[in-house]
Amino acid sequence: DGGGNVRVVVRVRAFLQREIEKATRCLIDMDPITQLTTLRAPEIGGGAAPGKQKSRKVIDDKQFTFDNSFWSHDVGDAHYAHQEDVYNSLGEEFLDHNFEGYHTCIFAYGQTGSGKSYTMMGTPEQPGLIPRTCEDLFERIEAAQNEDSNVAYNVRVSYFEVYNEHVRDLLVPMVPSAAPHYLKIRESPTEGPYVKDLTEVPVRNINEIMRYMKLGDSSRTTASTKMNDTSSRSHAVFTIMLRQIHHDMETDETTERSSRIRLVDLAGSERAKSTEATGARLREGSNINKSLTTLGRVIAALADPKQLRSGKRKDVVPYRDSILTWLLKDSLGGNSKTAMIACIAPSDYEETLSTLRYADQAKRIRTRAVVNQDHIS
Ligand code: ADP
Ligand code: MG
Repeated sequence: DGGGNVRVVVRVRAFLQREIEKATRCLIDMDPITQLTTLRAPEIGGGAAPGKQKSRKVIDDKQFTFDNSFWSHDVGDAHYAHQEDVYNSLGEEFLDHNFEGYHTCIFAYGQTGSGKSYTMMGTPEQPGLIPRTCEDLFERIEAAQNEDSNVAYNVRVSYFEVYNEHVRDLLVPMVPSAAPHYLKIRESPTEGPYVKDLTEVPVRNINEIMRYMKLGDSSRTTASTKMNDTSSRSHAVFTIMLRQIHHDMETDETTERSSRIRLVDLAGSERAKSTEATGARLREGSNINKSLTTLGRVIAALADPKQLRSGKRKDVVPYRDSILTWLLKDSLGGNSKTAMIACIAPSDYEETLSTLRYADQAKRIRTRAVVNQDHIS
């Protein structure tokens, strides 16, 4: 298992129309029993044998094992993983942790078009992890309230995106003519890094939370059509804050549990690589990929305890080198139960191999989650 405690799962999507038209071959196999994922070498034209490419890059079958492998390639298959299956085997358990008082974070990683947004947000007909988490959350709260428990619940929500090393509040509607409004990051000794002046709205029921979810999502989409597809270049962070205030009648004690549910749709992973290759974009003054390349470095540092121990200073993990990693510091290497969903396309050998390697490294990360509970009186 690599020694980590971050849950790492992989999900392969169906062919898109253009892939069907090109009669693309699926390179992915998943064994539903062992969870083994196999990436098969593509058949190269010209009769070159696998493993003997001109570039001397080894193109071979590659195998990986993750905590779960979600086969969402062909709906007819007995092992097809529906949106509901992904929620049942990951989302539900993470929500259990939130009610126990743990912070959680689930982030989707993968190239553009691999199914990150489908997995996190989904469609109105096929809702993903975010709407399902919201729904389950309020179902549980309502069930508890009907039992007349001594717990009061308080739910707040925020939604922001990191684009080009700027934080934008997705719950503040964009004014088309106005200059975009960016928020600053601050770090509190107790709460860690946070977005200053970020809108955090209280929500009392499923309808309210869904309304804000959709507002934020449409704000993200509006920007993306205007500004040359920012959605593939931006990281979207949907956060739910859950407070449970428990009053014990017998002891007259009040305790509060507060947990944070973070659901992250990362920018397309292909961006990180192309920048590293040329550096051209960065020199243009554009920081589009900085958060993603830094995320890679943070994961590499966290996954390598030897490297960490040999370092003289404790803060060798370069969290503060990018906005995203700074804000997700806790989720990546601190007080959080964390999961990564590696989304892959069925027939892109290079990008898929890179995603699977990234995910494989994330398996070695250990976070230290604690129950966030305080006695109030
Ligand atoms: P990303 O957010 O990674 O760029 P999307 O989630 O937008 O990718 O997915 C790309 C396309 O593939 C979309 O049209 C989406 O509806 C479709 N898709 C992705 N995953 C699945 C899936 N598991 N089942 C059906 N369609 C999917
Ligand atoms: Mg997307």
